[in-house]
Amino acid sequence: MLVAGVDLGGTNIRCAMADQDGHVLGEKIVRTEAHAGPNQVLDRVARLVDDLADQAGARPQGIGMGLPGLLDLRKGRSRFLPNLPTQWRDIPVRDMLVDKAECPVYLLNDVRLATLGELCFGLGRSVQDMVFLALGTGIGGGVVIDGRLRLGPLGAAGELGHQTILPGGPICGCGNHGCLESLASGPSIVADGIRLLLSGQAPHLYQAVGGDLNRVTGRKMAQAACAGDDALRDSIVRIAGYLGTAVANVVVAVHPELIVFGGGVVEMGDLLFDAVRATLRARVGMFPVDDVRIERSQLGERAGVMGGIALALNRGCPQKLTA
Ligand SMILES: [Zn+2]
Repeated sequence: MLVAGVDLGGTNIRCAMADQDGHVLGEKIVRTEAHAGPNQVLDRVARLVDDLADQAGARPQGIGMGLPGLLDLRKGRSRFLPNLPTQWRDIPVRDMLVDKAECPVYLLNDVRLATLGELCFGLGRSVQDMVFLALGTGIGGGVVIDGRLRLGPLGAAGELGHQTILPGGPICGCGNHGCLESLASGPSIVADGIRLLLSGQAPHLYQAVGGDLNRVTGRKMAQAACAGDDALRDSIVRIAGYLGTAVANVVVAVHPELIVFGGGVVEMGDLLFDAVRATLRARVGMFPVDDVRIERSQLGERAGVMGGIALALNRGCPQKLTA
């Protein structure tokens, strides 16, 4: 039996075909061309699946697909995909793709799907309780309890980027003030790096990017901090403090064995991770948290498609695979 996993993003569509054990037989990425609208984007998904099916010599028995936003899981419709043109309000994605690909289709929010991928095929294989945080342009998350992804009635449980960390803080895209996402997303980290560079407080960073603000990244900021830019170090530790506070909040609610960070921000490396771990220890006083591991995603950008494969193998049930 073959299944396909699809990760539909604003820029790229990634698809992988796998056998019943989750072994990937083929994988491919194409541009989303999201401006063309839902029907044509889903045509591209179906063609991608066809290509990989031709390669593998058999049709998939199911497709698990992640979409970037809020979905109606029961009806198989997208409700609001903020980063796609027209925002795909109330589009019957599941039925449209079933018609095009002629097999069952299972949907999930993209970060919840990546959580499932990491649970079934990544670091989560050895645990029953896990929290995933995707740290990129935005901050998403997923919560696994007793080997099963917690979804809630809207599939929105685990939106950890939108917990309030700083009441009265900067406004967030969701309308709330002081969300984790407004304080610790990739763009807000880079904005602080640029501020320090422009005010002459980050000479190593200035040198590393040749004075070109467009080349500032979290990774370069962390490197410059380690080379001696103390103001950058302070900035990174402060941002890691927000992340660590968010992690502490989740740990007291769920007490997972494992917290996994994905997304581009993890490129900041030990400076970030060590400060997050220190904040977690400082903020949870009710029970020991030394056993709670905080690790970098093993699957990286492939977590989503691997989650799609797991979802299809489980016929839509978002939990650990039973061998
Ligand atoms: Zn928010």
